[in-house]
Amino acid sequence: MVRHRGIFNPLNSEPYELSRSRVENFFKCPCCFYLIQVRGVEFPSIPGFNINEATDILLKKDFDKYRGTKKTHPFLIENGLEHLIPFHHEHFDLWTQSMHFGAKDRMNTIHKGTNLKIGGGLDDVWLNTKTDKIHIVDYKSTSQKSNKGPITLDDYYKGSYKRQMDLYIWIMRQKGFAVEDIGYFLYCDGDRFTKTPFLGKEKAVMEFKMTLIPYQCDLRWIEPILFQIKKVLTSQICPPHSKSCEYGHFLKRISED
Ligand code: SF4
Repeated sequence: MVRHRGIFNPLNSEPYELSRSRVENFFKCPCCFYLIQVRGVEFPSIPGFNINEATDILLKKDFDKYRGTKKTHPFLIENGLEHLIPFHHEHFDLWTQSMHFGAKDRMNTIHKGTNLKIGGGLDDVWLNTKTDKIHIVDYKSTSQKSNKGPITLDDYYKGSYKRQMDLYIWIMRQKGFAVEDIGYFLYCDGDRFTKTPFLGKEKAVMEFKMTLIPYQCDLRWIEPILFQIKKVLTSQICPPHSKSCEYGHFLKRISED
């Protein structure tokens, strides 16, 4: 059977592939989700965040040096977490490939109640040698505009980061792995307040402040949302525009003028 992805086809009995970002789309706006997944409306693309991608690649390279060994990265030792070791698995690199999440041995699972195949791409996994369970790890990059206090997960928009972590913990458990309730966000904060010169003779070097934030997962929202998604996918009616969406207000104003 042909893989079921892109526009939802009610006649295709194969599991319908939805990435974690599509699930997040639904969470934010069922209308937007419906227009994309059911009606096939293509929304304007946004350019990639290349510097964030570069920090992800560099962090992974650093942790790869310790993957599957008995030693761990000095950063984790410094943070009192010498019992966490980058996790080795034959499919680990496949789990990091978000663009192909629906293929075999990737980071995906089929939810039986809805026949949805939910997946994504992990940044990292660390093995807790005390419990023999794994922790899901997500790298984040930013540059705080204020020099006050450490990075937290308190901002409203970081709710989507938490849901991403919840979903990845859920997926890996569905795949049969013993996964800790605690996930870790490893934040790189481009330091714009440093006294260290940025530009040298030939190259510039940016300093990053690093923060490791443990996060206690909450998986209770996942299954109810998946059932809601299935209901909307099989509906003939597009849900209303979200009341809190600025674009929705903008479009409404245009249609009124
Ligand atoms: S404009 Fe806003 S409310 Fe309307 S579909 Fe798009 S995201 Fe949803």
